[in-house]
Amino acid sequence: MSGINVKGKIGQFFCRHKNKEWFIRKSQFSSLRGERRLHICTECGKEVGSYFAEYEDTGYK
Ligand SMILES: [Zn+2]
Repeated sequence: MSGINVKGKIGQFFCRHKNKEWFIRKSQFSSLRGERRLHICTECGKEVGSYFAEYEDTGYK
């Protein structure tokens, strides 16, 4: 994830997390069912939030 300035915990403490972007993190375990989406502050690199987005089932019904 380039473009993120990781300032460490002290920087994250003082950061107000105004600029956040969504990043997708795919793993071996989740790639078939969905993907993990991380809401990360681009100022300090802190993970503000995340959730698991499951792919829609396009298989048999
Ligand atoms: Zn921040």
